[in-house]
Amino acid sequence: MSVHRAEWVGKAKRWVVKIGSALLTRDGTGLDRAALADWAGQIVRLRQQGIEIVLVSSGAMAEGMCRMGWTERPRALFEKQAAAAIGQMSLVQAYEENFQLHGLHAAQVLLTHDDLADRRRYLNARSTLRHLIKLGTIPVVNENDTVAAEEIRLGDNDTLGALVANLVEADLLVILTDQQGLYDKDPRQHDDAELISAGWANDPRYLAFAGGAGTHIGSGGMRTKVLAAQRANRSGCATLIASGQATSVLERIHAGATLGTLLMPDNAPLAARKQWIASQLQSAGQVWLDAGAAQAIRETGRSLLPVGVTRVEGEFDRGEVVSCLDSEGQLLAKGLVNYSSAQAERIKRHPSQDIEKILGYVDAPELIHRDNLVVL
Ligand code: GLU
Repeated sequence: MSVHRAEWVGKAKRWVVKIGSALLTRDGTGLDRAALADWAGQIVRLRQQGIEIVLVSSGAMAEGMCRMGWTERPRALFEKQAAAAIGQMSLVQAYEENFQLHGLHAAQVLLTHDDLADRRRYLNARSTLRHLIKLGTIPVVNENDTVAAEEIRLGDNDTLGALVANLVEADLLVILTDQQGLYDKDPRQHDDAELISAGWANDPRYLAFAGGAGTHIGSGGMRTKVLAAQRANRSGCATLIASGQATSVLERIHAGATLGTLLMPDNAPLAARKQWIASQLQSAGQVWLDAGAAQAIRETGRSLLPVGVTRVEGEFDRGEVVSCLDSEGQLLAKGLVNYSSAQAERIKRHPSQDIEKILGYVDAPELIHRDNLVVL
């Protein structure tokens, strides 16, 4: 694995660096300006060596609370959103001041789940981010917490970091946290927990190792980091989870030092359109497949035909993203449907040549064409 590490990190030219709230705000006691200046300096030096960097920075809510002197995390959504609006100012101000010292600029990008779910907005965000990189700025991304309603929030910036890595086709997602990396057991509870130095992002053991949620300051734990690595994997991006407190952490990663946990991609990157489908966090509905259809999709990458669908749930229109479940209810794939839920309900279990007789017209013989279907 050590050979792989040097190979992966060495050839990574575009990085997404995510810094968590607990790190940025000294466990919620206020923005750690010295640490922030140090990371900013490292980012500038990497940039000078030709590494392109997009920063995903948490800490808006935690810093907003500090600015207002609130000691407890507010419960009401509008209070959290107000805290994020206040704290986001300090964050970008601090980044801009530090980058300016070296003649660079920060560029604030606030995204919501809907921006990434809507194909047109997604493509807009993608081209703007790419242009900001080309201009030599350091985009500083966060979730637009002030407008994101609770039920459609991305929720944690590990997920956001991975989606941004997909968006800009990054080679490496670096998640800086207050832990050394991923352990085979929770190191807070087990003295003999061992750090995993490198592995494959999709190794099924890692989610079990990661356990539940993290601290009270940020929103993610190790689990969201492993899931982020799996998402990043879809665009062929490696993920490195490392301690943000380690000296010169980013520059040492660049130099090939063995630190943290490197989770490497094991798949060829999906085509951009399929990545977008796979990155959808919510589906408009779901269809249940019989064993034959599930096998055809899983093993031979076929299209989904109406005849293989046993149940249709939710309300969706043609062109929306729908989840495909196997007969056990396990998520198997996601895809863009050719028929609405009402139409799918009528044509399910029927061979495609009957579609015209049933609906009075035929749009496509498939419910989901294989070009619009991503096996997960
Ligand atoms: N967007 C949140 C903030 O800046 C952080 C989410 C997270 O902790 O992952 O406060």
